Amino acid sequence: MTYTANSLKSELNSRGWRLTPQREKILHVFQNLPKGNHLSAEELYELLEKRQEGISLSTIYRSVKLMSRMGILRELELAEGHKHYELHQAHHHHHHIVCVQCNRTIEFNNDSILKHSLKQCDKEGFQLIDCQLTVTTICPEAIRMGWPSALPSNWCCTRTISKSHSESDVVNSSTLE
Ligand SMILES: [Zn+2]
Ligand SMILES: [Zn+2]
Repeated sequence: MTYTANSLKSELNSRGWRLTPQREKILHVFQNLPKGNHLSAEELYELLEKRQEGISLSTIYRSVKLMSRMGILRELELAEGHKHYELHQAHHHHHHIVCVQCNRTIEFNNDSILKHSLKQCDKEGFQLIDCQLTVTTICPEAIRMGWPSALPSNWCCTRTISKSHSESDVVNSSTLE
């Protein structure tokens, strides 16, 4: 599903929620995020701060939680306790390979995971909202740098957006700049 401000407004209204100006601004950021990018609440806050939108971090936390519960955003647990968000788009259904050292993320498509999950849900009478596999990894850069012993715990590989592996795979930087 892809939301426009208007369709989201009626969707939220029908469920007793409002598309406040803040939520609309947050939605706008995600709609304009380059494919393969994911934002943490803190990154979203910094981005909106730069635009002087005046939205507090606690409002952002609440909003992204709500929008995830409604299936508008997808919540990803990239590293332990480190949540990132992206727009939930049915036509771009994908899973994530995540480096535990630097959070670098690669997206990949695999319909059989979704199909299998749907089958299981049907069998048990559950309704599927989202299906995402997070594959926990060490990225090639961190391995080259001698992970784990040679790397300080706060080391981060260069998070540049690299070329796609294929049409469906996108290498991601979780920063925008
Ligand atoms: Zn993604
Ligand atoms: Zn890494």
